[in-house]
Amino acid sequence: MGKTQAMNFVNEVSQVPGGEGVNLCMQCGTCTASCPSAKIWEFTPSEIIAMVRADMRDEVLSSSSMWCCLSCYSCTVRCPRDVKPTNLFHSLESLAIKHGYKPQNTNTPAMYNSFVKSIKKNGRVSEFNMMMGYYLSTNPFAALGMMSVAWNLLSHGRMPLSARKIKGKNDLDKIIKKLEDIRGDQ
Ligand code: SF4
Ligand code: SF4
Repeated sequence: MGKTQAMNFVNEVSQVPGGEGVNLCMQCGTCTASCPSAKIWEFTPSEIIAMVRADMRDEVLSSSSMWCCLSCYSCTVRCPRDVKPTNLFHSLESLAIKHGYKPQNTNTPAMYNSFVKSIKKNGRVSEFNMMMGYYLSTNPFAALGMMSVAWNLLSHGRMPLSARKIKGKNDLDKIIKKLEDIRGDQ
């Protein structure tokens, strides 16, 4: 792998919001040691960062690893170099989506999509619509196993069937549009 090529992916990541700290990593492994979900990552948090810096673009963007991040921020609080790994992993998710990668062995992108659709439609999350969208786009039969939970939530008024729009939805639309323009979303 040539040096110029090796620089390309790390530069790309460093220019995505959240990826700015990628060059600061000194591979101490604190993020991996702090991560409650690292055991299920295909590559550990510190390995993924090393792979970014080694220009392993396809391997990183097709990996399910960053999709396992729980956003607990333990790594970000403990990182001695202020890399902000949580933000970095979410920037990798954005890049993966932007470039059409479909990670295997994870339904997290489908959950994100359903969440964002709900926000865009009503300005707030409608749990019922979000979960219906998620199951319909992944495994509709899996919803059957959640029927008792859904019934408990519905019967206690914790999950309304109808979604209400927030006030000021037009302003939120402008904020989302601006964000998408900055990120270069389609
Ligand atoms: S804790 Fe920070 S410096 Fe250490 S490996 Fe993780 S990102 Fe790199
Ligand atoms: S924020 Fe994500 S990567 Fe960092 S420790 Fe928590 S789960 Fe692991």
